[in-house]
Amino acid sequence: MSVQLISGGTVYTADAQESVHARGAVLIVDDKIAAVGSAAEVDAAVAALDPARRAELRTVDAGRMMVLPGFVNAHWHEMFAMRFPMRGALRPVSDRDDQVAFMGGGGDMHQISATFDRFDDLIDGMTPDEAQAIAEYSMWTQLRGGVTTLGDMGSLNRPASMVAGARRLGIRFSASTWASDAICPPEQSRFVRTRDTEGVLAGFEELLGLVAADTSGRLRCRPSIAYVTNMTDELARGMAELVARHDLPFATHVGALRNEADLMRTYYGESGLRRLAELGLVDDRLMAGHAGFLDEHEQKLMLTARAHISHSPGKYGPSGESSLTETGVVPALRRAGLDVSLSTDGSSMPSAGIAETMRAAWQMYNEMSADQTEVLPTDALAMGTRIAAKGLRWDDAVGSLEPGKQADLLLIPADDWRYLLNPRPLESFLWLAGSADVDTVIVGGRTLLRGGRGVEVDEAALQDRYLEALRGFTTRTLRIPDEVVGRVLGQVTR
Ligand SMILES: [Zn+2]
Repeated sequence: MSVQLISGGTVYTADAQESVHARGAVLIVDDKIAAVGSAAEVDAAVAALDPARRAELRTVDAGRMMVLPGFVNAHWHEMFAMRFPMRGALRPVSDRDDQVAFMGGGGDMHQISATFDRFDDLIDGMTPDEAQAIAEYSMWTQLRGGVTTLGDMGSLNRPASMVAGARRLGIRFSASTWASDAICPPEQSRFVRTRDTEGVLAGFEELLGLVAADTSGRLRCRPSIAYVTNMTDELARGMAELVARHDLPFATHVGALRNEADLMRTYYGESGLRRLAELGLVDDRLMAGHAGFLDEHEQKLMLTARAHISHSPGKYGPSGESSLTETGVVPALRRAGLDVSLSTDGSSMPSAGIAETMRAAWQMYNEMSADQTEVLPTDALAMGTRIAAKGLRWDDAVGSLEPGKQADLLLIPADDWRYLLNPRPLESFLWLAGSADVDTVIVGGRTLLRGGRGVEVDEAALQDRYLEALRGFTTRTLRIPDEVVGRVLGQVTR
């Protein structure tokens, strides 16, 4: 329990008016924001504190900093167990022989469907301790880059181990399970069921029980389906019933790739979003991942339902996806009033964080529309904070700096050459800074990162535990020879 005054910085609130306070301040009482505004306004709030609480006041000088709400990454996958095989450590150092594959060229849908369906077996091949060590390091890279609320959209990891990892790190976490019960095999014309739907749904119910037992206030749950290509009607109906019964948000990937709709019509008789709508999953609970390839009817379904799109423009180029630029559907839906937020998606190694994703949105949307006001820097910030929190149904507590909300915030130095004579530090941040520049991360009033270093956890120890767990999983379950793994790890371990 504490009383803290963050004083003197440029405070970006990401509230509904996108209020910014030059030389502003934030007063934190225990886990919540008590006041935010100009230094004078917040000083008045300090003066009004109970004298005993005022005596506890600790002031943090943020005079040369930006103060931002903690980033909300509502579409993420824990996949750090795949560091070796999946576009990872075993690649040759030269990139000259790289070829279009997997997500590139419109997407190799058969391969994607089969790969996603294998996740369950791989998760089973991971011990709970390995899973937690991998999850903690993976989540640490998110926290290090300023993410204070992380939304799982299905991971190659054990849900209970991820919950344990999030609790240990102190990051806010919306947990999920990996749900896939069908594949679309090549040379066929109908999906093939791969597992019992009841078992998949029971896995989420079990997670729900685990999260309900938590008293930290930092854990929630959101069911998700891996991808519409891997979903039987029974799974969709079961999920629709489950989210209604527990009053939860829901997420899935849909309209992600150019080749998706044709494949869906062949194997399921209907495109992804139409199926979701017919099966009761398109409403204001839905967070659709990517959703760049939606036809006009599907776009109307999204707008009518007031559904949500989370997309990841910082990731598309490097993975060969054209979800944003090829159709322009996501910016058009945003212009039409749909909630559109930013997320990192998942990868086996650290890739574009929320900061880099905000930059990508700021640059790509404006370039696509020849209009530098289409996405202002404060719009990009809102898409990575308040709007993402709304999609995750956590905006009652996080996503902006407003009195009564949880004290989740970031301090970012803004006093070097990159910021010289720019009255808008967020603009310089998007131009030239990024995840690595986050200095301080506070979650619920508790400082988890200071000076770019963990306050309660030691990054080197997290990394060592990750690499040890990775070696065990990679040799035993992925069957990559230990001498191959050892040779690569020998280059990084101390
Ligand atoms: Zn994703």
